Order: sequence, then C-alpha cells, then structure tokens
Amino acid sequence: MSQAVNRYRCDLRDMRFLLFEQYGLDDLLAKPPYADWSKDDVVAVLDEVYRWSCDVLGPINATGDRVGCVLEGGRVRTPPGFREAWKSLYQHGWRGLGVSPEHGGQGGPLAVSLLAGEMMSGANTAFNMYSGLSQGVAEVIETFGTPEQIATYCRKLFTGVFAGTMCLTEAHAGSDVGAALTRATPLGGGKYRIEGTKVFISAGDHDLTDNIIHLVLARTPDAPSGTKGLSLFIVPRDSLDGSGSNHVVTASIEHKMGINGSATAVLQFGESGPCVGELVGSEERRGMAQMFKMMNMARIGVGLQGLAVAGAAYLCALEYASQRVQGAHIKDWKDASAPRVPIIQHPNIRRMLLEMKARVEGIRALIIKLGLHRDRELALRAAGDDKAADDELGQVDLLVPVVKYYASDQGFQVTVLAIQCFGGAGYIKDHPVEQYCRDSKIFSIYEGTNHIQALDLVGRKLGLRGGANFQAYLADVRKFVAANRDNASLAPVLERLGAAADALSEGAMRLFGWFQAGKTELIGLYANRFLEMMARTTVSWVLLDGAAVALKAASHLPADHPDRAFYQGKLHAAMHYAQLELPVVVDGARFMGQEMRHSLEIPDLGFGRFE
Ligand SMILES: Cc1cc2nc3c(=O)[nH]c(=O)nc-3n(C[C@H](O)[C@H](O)[C@H](O)COP(=O)(O)OP(=O)(O)OC[C@H]3O[C@@H](n4cnc5c(N)ncnc54)[C@H](O)[C@@H]3O)c2cc1C
Repeated sequence: MSQAVNRYRCDLRDMRFLLFEQYGLDDLLAKPPYADWSKDDVVAVLDEVYRWSCDVLGPINATGDRVGCVLEGGRVRTPPGFREAWKSLYQHGWRGLGVSPEHGGQGGPLAVSLLAGEMMSGANTAFNMYSGLSQGVAEVIETFGTPEQIATYCRKLFTGVFAGTMCLTEAHAGSDVGAALTRATPLGGGKYRIEGTKVFISAGDHDLTDNIIHLVLARTPDAPSGTKGLSLFIVPRDSLDGSGSNHVVTASIEHKMGINGSATAVLQFGESGPCVGELVGSEERRGMAQMFKMMNMARIGVGLQGLAVAGAAYLCALEYASQRVQGAHIKDWKDASAPRVPIIQHPNIRRMLLEMKARVEGIRALIIKLGLHRDRELALRAAGDDKAADDELGQVDLLVPVVKYYASDQGFQVTVLAIQCFGGAGYIKDHPVEQYCRDSKIFSIYEGTNHIQALDLVGRKLGLRGGANFQAYLADVRKFVAANRDNASLAPVLERLGAAADALSEGAMRLFGWFQAGKTELIGLYANRFLEMMARTTVSWVLLDGAAVALKAASHLPADHPDRAFYQGKLHAAMHYAQLELPVVVDGARFMGQEMRHSLEIPDLGFGRFE
C-alpha cells in the first residue's frame, strides 16, 4: 500500500486566473466586508493550502480508504493520521477562511474558501467531510440559534473543538424527509427528550473531537405530518454539563463503496437512556427551513467534492499519459519499427484529456461564479444596496441545484474517463484513480439525490421572485453573446450559445405549461433534462467568457511566454466543450415532451413479474 505517498495535484494557475483575470475578485478586496484581505493574501493562502493539502492530507488518503473507520466498544476510530490532520487543520485555520472573525475565523470571500475546499477535498475527500459538516452545523446555529446557543456552540464548532453532524435520514425517510418519525417531547425550558433512530449519518461518531453536536430533525407531539411538522434540535453526544453520555448510541457503521475514511453511522437517540436536545432558536416546526440553510451550503459543498475529485483525477491521468509509452504514432500505423510514443500523443487520449480539462475548468468556473455572487451580495449589503444584493442572492439560489447536480454527476464521469486513460493500470489500487471513482459515486446521491435537485430547480428555483432570477440569468447569457459578436475566435459557437439561452427559455415555458395543465408526470420525467440543459449552457458560457479573457491576455504576450500555452488551453477547452454540448441543449428543448415517454406508457415497464 502506497499510503505515505502524496498523489494530489491541483491547478493553482487556473484558480488565480478565475479569481483575478476572469472574475475580478480584486474589486471586492480591501473593502467591507473583506477589508482585511488583499490580492497577495489570497494568493499566499491558496499556495499554503495547496502545500498543506499535499503534505498532510494527500499521504493519508489511500490509508483512509484501505483501513477505513472501525467501531470498537461503541466508539468509532478514524483511520491513521486523521487525528493529527484534524489538529493541524485547525492550527492553520484553513477551515476558518470564510468564517467571521467574531467566531475565530478570517472573514474571507466565499470564492477563496471554495478553492481552498477544492484542494482539501481533492486531497482527501473523506477527511474533509468531518470539518465541512461541523462548519455547516455552526452556520445553522449562528443564523437561527439563540444568543446563548451561539455563544455555547459556534466558536467551538468553527475552531474544531467540537464536531457536528446533520441527522435527517431515517430508514423509511430518505428523499421523503417529511416521513421522519423521530420524536421530540418537551421537557420545559427549551429542552426536549429525543427518541428515534437516524441512519446514514456522516461523521456520526469519531475520535477527532471530545464531543459531537448533532443537529436532529424530529417531530414534536401533535405536529402536522410532512416537512412542516419537523423541528430542529441541538443534541450533543455528551452532555455539556459534564454529566456524561447523552445516550446517543452508535449502533453500527456502514461498509461502503468509497469515502471509507468517513464514518457513516446508524445513531440511536434515547434508546439506552434519556437523550436531551434543545430546540434551535425558539420556534417549533421551523426545522426544514433551518436545515435548508445548511443544505444549501452542503449542496455547494457536494458540488465542490465533485470538482475536487475530478480535478485530481484529470491531473493524474494527464501525468500518466505523458509517461506511459505504448504503440506508435497513428501517422506511422503501417510501420512496425516506428518508435513507440507516450499515449498522450494518441488522438483519442488527447480527446479524453481535453474533455476532462474542459469539464473540470468549466465546473470550477461555475462554482466560483456562484461563490462570487454570494461575496458580492455581502459587499452590496455592507454598502447598503439591498436591491442589488438581492439580485446577487437570486443567482446563488438559482445556481445551487445546478452546481450540486452537474458537478457531482460530472465529477464521477471524469473519474471514469481518467481510468479509461490509464487503461488496466487505472483499475488497480496502485494508482489513485480507482479510489477517486469509488469515492465520487456518492456525490450524486447524498444531500438530496440529483433528481431531487432537478425537482428543486424546476419546481422552486425557476419561479422564485416571479421568475426574475431566471430572466436575469438569461439576460446575462445574451449580453455576453452580444458583447462578443466580433470575436472571430469564438464566432463558431456564439450563435449556438444564444440559441441555447432561447432553448432554456422555451424549455421553462414548456415546464410551466405542464404545471398549469397538471401534467406533473412530464415534469418528473424532464426535470433532469432541463437541469442538464441549464448546466451545459452555463458551463459553456463561463468557459467562453474565460476564453475571451485568455485571448486578450495572450495577445499582449511574446510568442515564447510560458503563459501563452495556458491561455491557448483555455480557448481550446472552451471551444471543445461548447461545440459538443450546446447542440444537445438546443435539441433538448426541441424534443421536450415528444420523446422519452415510453417509460410512462407501459405500467410495469414490460418486465412483467420476477420469476
Ligand atoms: C455515504 C452516505 C452518507 C450520508 N450522509 C448523510 C448525512 O450525513 N445525514 C443524513 O441525514 N443523511 C445522509 N445520507 C442519506 C442520503 O442523504 C440519502 O441516501 C439520500 O437522500 C437518498 O435517500 P435514500 O437512500 O433513502 O433513497 P430513496 O429516497 O429511497 O431513493 C431511491 C431512488 O428513488 C428516487 N426517488 C425517491 N423519491 C422520489 C420521488 N419523490 N420522485 C422521484 N424519484 C424519487 C431517488 O432519486 C433515488 O434514485 C447519506 C447517505 C450515504 C449513502
């Protein structure tokens, strides 16, 4: 087992390009709320996080996978090196980059902490989940908790003294969260007795911190059925008054396909004795709305996991393809004595590598676009411009399901392509790509399966603010097309990008018509298709936007400047992606509702009974 070897690589150059050349993060720095941040700080932080991820997290990624977590005497032991890495993470403060200084953080832009997150998650996805969830719990309490709850929990969660979990799922309540049966019986003084069993709880138990703070969705007596009857409770594993166990029992941990270093636990609340929780804030039945706060960030976080693993897999494949010698160049296919060449010289390997590069860079640009909408929102609020801030927030809302769905789905697809580039070597454990593939499959399933994301987009997000967010999005795409009309390099695809925006508009109208006509089964059938159309359009747009910036930058450089290849790569990746994906969007709208209906036509899909 080659666990001591760091295999992680990431593309810092592309990260700096996005922040400072394409998206102009500079405009937000040195002003509230990022007054303490300069461009040099951002560059230095990203360099350091990269080095730290390679030195500390990369070497324990394979060990985490092979050794996994062990449940012993009712407690989970994390894989070797995880405890030391946890201490080091919080000593360096990498988790606190975007956290308010009031809670021990550094108050930086979300876009920067997302890139730091990409590196930490790419180097070790399973390890990164423990701290990611803890941060999510802290953010929920920071937003909805009472002043006492904020004082008791936030700083400790943000600084790694406590860890946290989100407990929604029950054996019979997965996607259907509203079916949860865990009970919360009032004890007075804002305290409740919690009784029930949650399953599949990530970081449900471990040895990284002395205590774990569970956020538990439960139902108070007489609460209505469904999600409206759920309330959210803070349930520490061990009582904070030092009286010992709060009777949260780790009944088992799952044996999984991937992310083996992350303990996925079955937790029993209140079965071995009284388990006491406190309501988040002071109002019952607000649980789902409160949990949504965490889920929004967690969904961005899962999209980021997809990007992180895809980015690592792509660079691994690129390195291997440059070294692995096999076969002659295709120009010499008739010459048995022709020299053998590295596989990167074969056209199909080059195609696969460019496909990976385009998806990774496009998804990174999409996620950072989302992050910067949020950063601009906060900056505009600090400047008192609430209307413009709401517009920025509208784009965040719209893009969250797109990011979660597309980045998680494509993250896995990129790892499959990476294995294909490796050939047989990719299928064995000497190389990390098979672990990347196994680790990344879960991303399209947890935090709401990707179909749930698609329903969220078409059922909720498109219609928010009377559709204004979606209209603003379409207007931005069309503005880009109009502004670049004279750009000869982008010309072959610009018209198609405009047609894709029209197709999205048409698709949304069709969905709306189906809603009005009560044809909900067509919405269920086409929701994924529509989300994918929107993702392909957005990724094409942000890649082409980057290409336009790169072209301009390259035009000022001498022919032998090393950055020229980088900028040319941006152009080729954008054109490759847009040429392949935009026609699918346009066709997608044209045939929406006409095809794909066969699954609805036959009652039992023609399978008949199992024999
Ligand atoms: C490794 C791992 C970690 C996890 N971590 C956590 C955690 O920390 N906290 C937590 O609370 N949960 C966690 N989960 C649970 C996870 O969020 C659920 O597995 C997920 O929401 C799907 O629920 P399910 O597995 O019950 O599948 P189901 O809900 O049974 O879905 C099965 C299939 O049916 C589809 N489907 C379900 N309902 C509908 C519908 N109404 N319309 C159309 N299609 C539908 C789904 O999309 C899916 O394809 C984790 C799961 C795993 C495997």
